[in-house]
Amino acid sequence: MLDSFWKMPNRRFADGEVVMGRWPGSVLYYEVQVTSYDDVSHLYTVKYKDGTELALKESDIRSQSSFKHRKSQSSSSSPSRRSTSRSRSRSPGRPAKGRRRSSSQSREHKDDKKKTIQETIQETNLALLKPSENNTRRYNGEPDSTERNDTSSIILEQKLKPDLEIERVLEQYSLRSREEEKKKEEIYSEKKIFETIKTIEKASSKTKELEFGGRIGTFMLIFFLPATVFYLLLMCKQDDPSLMNFPPPLPALESLWEARVFGVFLLWFFLQALFSLLPIGKVVEGLPLSNGRKLQYRINGFYAFILTAAAIGTLLYFQFELHYLYDHFMQFAVSAAAFSMVLSIYLYVRSLKAPEEELAPGGNSGYLVYDFFTGHELNPRIGSFDLKYFCELRPGLIGWVVINLAMLLAEMKIHNQSMPSLSMILVNSFQLLYVVDALWNEEAILTTMDITHDGFGFMLAFGDLVWVPFVYSLQAFYLVGHPTVVSWPVAAAITILNFIGYYIFRSANSQKNNFRRNPADPKLAYLKFIPTATGKGLLVTGWWGFVRHPNYLGDIIMALAWSLPCGFNHILPYFYVIYFICLLIHREARDEHHCKQKYGLAWERYCQRVPYRIFPYIY
Ligand code: NDP
Repeated sequence: MLDSFWKMPNRRFADGEVVMGRWPGSVLYYEVQVTSYDDVSHLYTVKYKDGTELALKESDIRSQSSFKHRKSQSSSSSPSRRSTSRSRSRSPGRPAKGRRRSSSQSREHKDDKKKTIQETIQETNLALLKPSENNTRRYNGEPDSTERNDTSSIILEQKLKPDLEIERVLEQYSLRSREEEKKKEEIYSEKKIFETIKTIEKASSKTKELEFGGRIGTFMLIFFLPATVFYLLLMCKQDDPSLMNFPPPLPALESLWEARVFGVFLLWFFLQALFSLLPIGKVVEGLPLSNGRKLQYRINGFYAFILTAAAIGTLLYFQFELHYLYDHFMQFAVSAAAFSMVLSIYLYVRSLKAPEEELAPGGNSGYLVYDFFTGHELNPRIGSFDLKYFCELRPGLIGWVVINLAMLLAEMKIHNQSMPSLSMILVNSFQLLYVVDALWNEEAILTTMDITHDGFGFMLAFGDLVWVPFVYSLQAFYLVGHPTVVSWPVAAAITILNFIGYYIFRSANSQKNNFRRNPADPKLAYLKFIPTATGKGLLVTGWWGFVRHPNYLGDIIMALAWSLPCGFNHILPYFYVIYFICLLIHREARDEHHCKQKYGLAWERYCQRVPYRIFPYIY
């Protein structure tokens, strides 16, 4: 230890030294171990007995010997005396599951004082609120395999508690035996802390790190995405859709728009909206928002699918020619694109009136184009009708299946077949399984990034209403004009591949979703996880211990299986799998970034334990 002192003359306490650390915002001291020191910010990173890490100033740290000395000297006035005696039953790290500060974080954010204050405030409030929880963690913060805790909601609820509530809780738990003066002082300081939280949160809710190439990138994407759809559909219509045939001949402008097609599109959209409003299916709560509130969602996507199937069946029964969709495919895509643009403008305009707390964490930069693209408001609703949630799973996703069916019928009609081709059957059934699975497990979408992080703007509106139905159905569209023969053994191999992908995708998503919904579920007791400062755990066994995004791996395997029935003559039907790999690699990087911010040291530990992101031993 003396060695360390020699090496670091600017600091009083050495790494590894066990000292008494003041619990931020309070007068309570607890036994902590110094883990590192930042020369620039002059902050010590200390670890509490339960593994909580915080950055403390030197003035908030005392040696143990000085404490023992004071304890024996004084019997009434020293606040620390009472604190030390309380520390065994009321370790601050136990109840405090707000964000903790790791050494690397403290270095990274040494200039971000606001953030530091907020973190310590959260810790403090929770320490004062939940003093009697049992300590079941090990000192080094590594997971106890069966530890189950999820207090993120407590943190959020706590942020909302009015001052009076804080006073009540303070009185109830911790300060009863202290002098009245001290008590008032502490309550007063808590009030101030609480007010500071509100101010800081307001000040820091702006999006500072821009994604998708920032303002220029998002501006270009607004044109590039529709142009890509347009290009893919034109190419697919070509007899020879090879890349050498670029650019495809452009159609006459007036042929791109037909009022009747737009009318059919509107009818489809509002029919799906009507189905989603039917009072059938259970109502569930989403994850807590930043203000602690939980929105309610009606889970009836699968019923909407059944009703749609019945409606389409009726149309077919009355000889309605569904290949109308194929004949006017480009016009439908243009109608959907026009609608998504109008919807995005509406969403942006209404978001300008939305309260700050309802804005999306990723779409509140203050730059019009960026916020318009990424989505300014997190959960735009008209009454109880959630526009983002509706668009994510209904018109586009169910529309994709209907388009595939139309392609199947068009293939039969154009090629005079009494049966669809085997390749068309494979594509249709694989993608039908994917959509039905998404609707059957509709609730799982509530924990995805799209719902919890991304706002509803052009990116999701265009993605849900245009990209998904018109690009994801590209293989079926391709097969109509480019029949491909697949032998039975090849079909069997592709089917097995699809089911392997599906199995990984489904079990990984369910594992995480069930764990997030109920970490105490006895069925998940075999899984190990790393506890994090937010109260949520990070699974390190099961699928999430295999790679960091097993669900993406399964999804990519399925994407390949959807393209293979189209043979190897052209790369066009492989557009989906190529694009999807790029999308998921980019998405993984975004998620990684968010998780690093959310979980700090625990995330780094998780990455050490699970080094591969999507593809084992490759990436
Ligand atoms: P994920 O479902 O992969 O969720 C990522 C989140 O999971 C993280 O932010 C984190 O959130 C949590 N998490 C990460 N690691 C762990 C762990 N070890 N233990 C527990 N929780 C962990 O994100 P997506 O929304 O991107 O994907 C959902 C599904 O949708 C995937 O199957 C994906 O393939 C699919 N998808 C399909 C698309 C398509 O167009 N077909 C497009 C995009 C996605 P927290 O800790 O906050 O819970």
